Amino acid sequence: MSDYILSFDQGTTSSRAIIFSARGEICAIGQHEFPQIFPHSGWVEHNPDDIWESTLQAARDAIEQAGIDVADIRVAGITNQRETTLIWDRHTGEPVYNAIVWQDRRTAAYCQQLEDEHENIEQLITDHTGLLLDPYFSATKIVWLLDNVDGVRARAERGELMFGTVDTYLLWRLTGGEVYATDATNASRTMLFNIHRQCWDDELLALLGIPPGMLPEVKNSADDFGAIRADLFGRRIPIGGVAGDQQAALIGQACFTPGMAKSTYGTGCFMVMNTGDEAVRSTHRLLTTVAYRLDNQVTYAVEGSIFMAGATIQWIRDGLRLIRDASESESLAHQTGYENPVYMVPAFTGLGAPYWDPEARGAILGLSRDTGIKEIVTAGLQAVCYQTRDLLEAMREDGIRPENLRADGGMVANSWLVQFLADVLGIPIACPKVTETTALGAAFLAGLQAGMYQSLDEVATLWQDDKAYTPQVDDEARAQLYQGWRTAVERVRSAG
Ligand code: ADP
Repeated sequence: MSDYILSFDQGTTSSRAIIFSARGEICAIGQHEFPQIFPHSGWVEHNPDDIWESTLQAARDAIEQAGIDVADIRVAGITNQRETTLIWDRHTGEPVYNAIVWQDRRTAAYCQQLEDEHENIEQLITDHTGLLLDPYFSATKIVWLLDNVDGVRARAERGELMFGTVDTYLLWRLTGGEVYATDATNASRTMLFNIHRQCWDDELLALLGIPPGMLPEVKNSADDFGAIRADLFGRRIPIGGVAGDQQAALIGQACFTPGMAKSTYGTGCFMVMNTGDEAVRSTHRLLTTVAYRLDNQVTYAVEGSIFMAGATIQWIRDGLRLIRDASESESLAHQTGYENPVYMVPAFTGLGAPYWDPEARGAILGLSRDTGIKEIVTAGLQAVCYQTRDLLEAMREDGIRPENLRADGGMVANSWLVQFLADVLGIPIACPKVTETTALGAAFLAGLQAGMYQSLDEVATLWQDDKAYTPQVDDEARAQLYQGWRTAVERVRSAG
């Protein structure tokens, strides 16, 4: 029966491809890592061919592993690392430079210059795009390529070059150059897309000197994105869904009504909450973004991120060598009581939302003679939960109130952590059966486009929880624990 969905999940360190059944169950996974390129401190690049080859290989492996006929794949979807920026030649397909990865900070000085030279530029950016003026987003990376790679600006002005985020690049190659497009979620991370009017923003393009002719068409997240060339997998496969990774995870977690939120706990943590048709503007520098766009109807979201989630546990393992494996943290935490808590503030690269203090540095507080390995490891896990509470508080102060949370990512394998998260947040938390929520979200979008699902309501019935956690501590204990965290954070903040 022709009812499988091929989902491409092109991530920062590896490319994955997953074959899903129509019910959203995983049939097979292919995964290939590719090299990270660090030419200078703060610079991060990917070779576009590595992105492409690893994606193809992952898909071929998944198809082979699933043991299905390619003819049985009804539709494909794409989800991807967001903001990462590529420019290539319209005719030869040759990239002008490596992909500049979202983590790359090379345009920090340029962002500062923009702020100095244009009064209220950040205001304009936030008003139009929902974002902040930051090197993280694609816009200043495009400007860097235009100004620093020989001949690129002139070629762009002659209409010879194409810009794309990773979804666009993959679409263009998968369709043999037939489709040059992106979806509204990916566009909303470029700092060039007007999220209210749903079009590229002329004012920002002019201000940054980016030729509009080098931008892709912006489609719905479930849309006709052409078809994969027959020679790649033996048959043409229609592409029906595209979304950036965090938005895809929101969809894969079936957070389709305002107030539903998901949090992904990997190296870092991204919390995204559906705000419906309202683009809620944060007063705490959280980002306003497109959650998905279906039939030209936009659903918005608010997003907050934590730099150090699983990375804190990695540091405890590899830096402090207190544990050999991340999973040991769970049994150690079970042996630690809540009295006289130790607090770890993992501000290794400053504090993100809602403090935005890049100069702050980390600390471990509350040490006593009987503090040992288990207390420090526990404090590392707890820090992830307290930081989530900080995001939740910021959202609440912005008038948005998640009533429950769906969690995913590598860290939710740790049940102690998720229970403590429920305790500190004071709201129930559910973890899904299918933890590959990002790939699942792209599959759901593709399935909607292919008519396998009639509505988001139908998709929501496919989401199943694996485990639910409810808060076990009373309000007073919760308030006390969190107050201890706030005090600890105050002590590491920079003077500025
Ligand atoms: P990413 O996609 O960012 O590479 P993953 O979702 O694979 O991350 O999650 C891996 C992260 O989760 C690592 O940083 C690791 O330290 C952390 N982690 C994995 N298992 C556990 C566990 N049982 N307890 C705590 N942290 C864990």
